[in-house]
Amino acid sequence: MKVTVVGHWGGYPREGEATSCYLVEKDGFTLVIDMGSGALSQLQMYKHVLDIDAVIISHYHHDHMADIGVLQYARFVHAYLEDMNKILPIYGHQEDAESFYHLTHDFTKGIAYDPDEVLKVGPFMITFLKTNHPVPCYGMRITDGTNIFVYTADTAFQKEWFEFAKDADMLLTDCNFYAYQDGSEAGHMTSVEGAMIAAQANVDELILSHLPQYGDQEQLVIEAQQYFQGKIHLAHKGLIWSKNDENC
Ligand code: ZN
Repeated sequence: MKVTVVGHWGGYPREGEATSCYLVEKDGFTLVIDMGSGALSQLQMYKHVLDIDAVIISHYHHDHMADIGVLQYARFVHAYLEDMNKILPIYGHQEDAESFYHLTHDFTKGIAYDPDEVLKVGPFMITFLKTNHPVPCYGMRITDGTNIFVYTADTAFQKEWFEFAKDADMLLTDCNFYAYQDGSEAGHMTSVEGAMIAAQANVDELILSHLPQYGDQEQLVIEAQQYFQGKIHLAHKGLIWSKNDENC
């Protein structure tokens, strides 16, 4: 399994970068998780738009889905250029009917996931946890049968993550706030809360993402190290995490 950070800012992207967007790959299959602002531009550094096999959206805030529309246009243009009529599945929850409706276009199809069921997408099995966020949002536990990657999406701290992230090879957390702040009202976590989940859940590695634009982001890692002894990465564009991936 290989995970590539395409976009890692919370709220809005810094110049030349993107908000939430991650590639998860296995055996030539590419799943895109979230499609934030600037994501399509950045994504093309790693993949041709026709080489994306599926997209899944955690929730319908702009910093997680702003580039869905332009991705649809890109698929539309390439469908004509390359005489291709393959439909790209875009998975999303149905608790916001209007946003879900917009996942479907000429060459994309919105497919509702049932958060209470296991979703199979290509080589991946995905289970969901409702997060603590102002709008309905789902974190994901993704396994290829060998390795486990857990994505918190956007969430305030909640104890349910301890069990949901249990023994994951890698946990990627919402780290929109520094330790001295309180992100709970905004529905986000601090560095320390993410690290506490990593420690309690006994994960191998932690990636801090959905980062604040201000301050010294390296400080987030120092704060997290007080609570989690495993390897901690600060998300940046192009960061690759992989395990048992023969191409790496
Ligand atoms: Zn959000």
